[in-house]
Amino acid sequence: MSGDRPLLEVQGLVKHYAVTAGVFSREVGKVRAVDGVSFEIRAGETLGLVGESGCGKTTVGRTLMRLEEPTAGRVTFDGQDLQALSRTELRAARRDFQMVFQDPMSSLNPRMTVRDIVGEPLAVHGLAKGPALEARVSELLEKVGIPGAWRNRYPHEFSGGQRQRIGVARALALGPRLIVCDEAVSALDVSVQAQVLNLLIDLRAELGLSYLFISHDLSVVRHVSDRIAVMYLGQIVELAATETLFREPVHPYTRALLSAIPVPNPTRRSERIVLQGDVPSPMAPPPGCRFHTRCPAVMERCRREMPPAVEVEGGHVVRCFLADPSAADWRAATDQRRREAEAAQVARAPKPGSSMPLRSSGAPEDEAPVPPALTGGLTAVLALGLILLAIVVWPGTRHAQARDQLAGLSRELHAFAETTGGLPTALDELGWRLHEVFEGGQPTDPWGAAWQYERQGEGFSLSSRGPDGRPGGGDDVAGSHGS
Ligand code: SF4
Repeated sequence: MSGDRPLLEVQGLVKHYAVTAGVFSREVGKVRAVDGVSFEIRAGETLGLVGESGCGKTTVGRTLMRLEEPTAGRVTFDGQDLQALSRTELRAARRDFQMVFQDPMSSLNPRMTVRDIVGEPLAVHGLAKGPALEARVSELLEKVGIPGAWRNRYPHEFSGGQRQRIGVARALALGPRLIVCDEAVSALDVSVQAQVLNLLIDLRAELGLSYLFISHDLSVVRHVSDRIAVMYLGQIVELAATETLFREPVHPYTRALLSAIPVPNPTRRSERIVLQGDVPSPMAPPPGCRFHTRCPAVMERCRREMPPAVEVEGGHVVRCFLADPSAADWRAATDQRRREAEAAQVARAPKPGSSMPLRSSGAPEDEAPVPPALTGGLTAVLALGLILLAIVVWPGTRHAQARDQLAGLSRELHAFAETTGGLPTALDELGWRLHEVFEGGQPTDPWGAAWQYERQGEGFSLSSRGPDGRPGGGDDVAGSHGS
């Protein structure tokens, strides 16, 4: 490496997977696994990459190793553009960057001895053979804490931790400068995790290695990383030095992740930020800020515009409108903005007990009344489709959508009451499989409100809890079959 040039530079990395359907494999959509990821790793540095399952962190690792071809973007290793390399050149370059995979059992061929597994890269690259190869394999095994004399054993003869050490030995065989560790300790017991993590730290100091350490576990990443990048739905939303990130997280998603880490102190009460709902599908990411469907501080602007990644201070990058580095005391200003946005959220949230009469289905009084009930299977399917559409794929026109869906539900409940003289005890009595929606737990709509149906004597309620956990909702309905 020359000068201060980073060892690895990733600029605007994009990886989309086509989704096909039909006899002719027509493309019907794209999974946007990675969407414009940029970072760099310096020599001897460990960068942690964290995020929920499905956020694209493993795809980043595989794409920068060129195990997957990127859709767009640039990956430069020690000044060399990896996309520009031919297959032969890439094979030679791969000596410098290797990967350790999550599951040590499935990443080691059970039919090969450890000698063959660890020695294979040396043989493929023509670096050693015969007694020299045997000696090098033994040396590598000793380096990761496994007796060299065990080299003729098979993977199943080792424990999980030992198998991961063998994976590390294989990655070290070619003398790499960068190792991508993809959930390298996630499959191990906690005590074994610590051993393997300490091994990786020791090897970094001894061999001057750099790591990209991919994990969903922030505590593990904190232990090994110099800097941490937090990913959400294909994008890096915050990147900072480890201590900075843990001491003063800025992005609401980072704050929520950190609040979920258990505090080993019974006298200290941690304030848990509970995010509502699931990560949206990467096939249909929400417009504007990708996190806006779950953000406790969401503002109107966040639903329309994508926040840019801005450097708020030396090396601390945040993708959120709350962070404004141009403010004099930007941290205080950001905290103030967040408090205001959260207060506005709470003020917008429906008040407890604000349920509305069944017939209105949450529509304001000056709106047209709900038309007469339609019955029959077709109506049921259409109504269910509307609800599923709003719950799963339709991120906009919130209130009109919710009112329409609930109007359909109200009509069906009335029709049921008129026909049977009573209310359903179970939702599937309605005959249109609503139980799948409302009895499989509390379904969450695209705006983070959790919905619940309850039979109450002669009446019922259909209620929601907003993302702040408060009950009630302008879209709630309640009533009885006689109402
Ligand atoms: Fe939340 Fe808006 Fe910031 Fe996105 S840009 S994280 S929605 S406050």
